[in-house]
Amino acid sequence: MRPDTPADLLPEVTADTAPFYSGLDEGRLMLQECAACGRVRYPIAPVCPFCRADAHRWRTVDGRGVVHSWVRYHRSFVSAFETLVPYVVLTVQLDEGPRLFGRLVGAEADTVNIGDRAKAVVELSESGRGVLAFTPTAKAQ
Ligand SMILES: [Zn+2]
Repeated sequence: MRPDTPADLLPEVTADTAPFYSGLDEGRLMLQECAACGRVRYPIAPVCPFCRADAHRWRTVDGRGVVHSWVRYHRSFVSAFETLVPYVVLTVQLDEGPRLFGRLVGAEADTVNIGDRAKAVVELSESGRGVLAFTPTAKAQ
């Protein structure tokens, strides 16, 4: 299938990933928290990468962190994103631990720098599903 819209690229929701994606659909960032050591993790996994415990719970995280890196796309490699170029994708080191990535929203592409503060936000796709994005909150000190 050729993806023609960003909604065509949304991942399939499985039993393991449903809390993450249903959280986004409701405007919240939910991540796994290890029931043994308490660390928050991503990507979604059945076992804690820190202590190997399999018990976990899902919790809504604050989603604030520091811009670790970014990339600006000047052309689209899939037709679904042609209407978005140029756009920026950030990797953000969350204060809660994991490093996640998402499109920059709420700011011009040339205004974000490594070290800036950013927070997770949820964009609603045309299909109504939530997609993780980030918006800057403060410049680096
Ligand atoms: Zn653990």
